[in-house]
Amino acid sequence: MSMKDVEPIKEIYIGCECMDLDHIAHLVYFPLTKKEKEDGEEEFIYFKIKFINYFDRFLPPIRYFYDISEWNSFFYHNHFRKVIIGLKYIFNRYYNKKDGILSCFEFQNKDLSKLDIFLSQIAENIDTNISRQSTESLDNEGWYIRFSIDRQIHDDRFPYQLGWEPQFKCRNIFGRIKYAFKYIFGRYSNEQHFEIKKSEAEKLRGMIKWVEDTNCEEELKEQLHKIIDDKKKEKNG
Ligand SMILES: [Zn+2]
Repeated sequence: MSMKDVEPIKEIYIGCECMDLDHIAHLVYFPLTKKEKEDGEEEFIYFKIKFINYFDRFLPPIRYFYDISEWNSFFYHNHFRKVIIGLKYIFNRYYNKKDGILSCFEFQNKDLSKLDIFLSQIAENIDTNISRQSTESLDNEGWYIRFSIDRQIHDDRFPYQLGWEPQFKCRNIFGRIKYAFKYIFGRYSNEQHFEIKKSEAEKLRGMIKWVEDTNCEEELKEQLHKIIDDKKKEKNG
């Protein structure tokens, strides 16, 4: 059965490794009609970040009023940290933060095949030119997202993950001031949506395959080492 015989999957929500409900990617696919396809229109998948109140409010939520211990972290993350990041960007047009200006997001490895199937709706092929250093960016008028292959330190069994982080774009000084203020004072949550085109979907599928294959290889290697160790112990014992 080919992809064309099945009902298209119109949208999926994919959570983050940290399980935070504010770290969710929402992907939407509007299949083209036959006529649009014949006219040569390009297909897209929309990638949106769901973050409810994420870095987006000036005053703490009500629950913070009876748990004062959260206040420090609220003001640090919502105000102080944002001011520092915004200022750094004003003075450095190439500034991008290592773990993203909003935060860093990691897809859970169990969701990668689901994401791959979703992307395959607009990209039949998989980019095979992928290495550990491969990245892919999506951008819109205001922001961009960078996807990269990240190494997990705390999980030996699945050491690699597909991560992504929102960043500022490289702009002239006026643009930097505008977007730094927007970032600090929070009027951008509705701007965090991006288009994935066919070539980008192919690259992302390649990165997913790289992560899955490499994790699988590492797992096999580890099993092999364990068998060898056991054999050695048997011999010595
Ligand atoms: Zn997260």
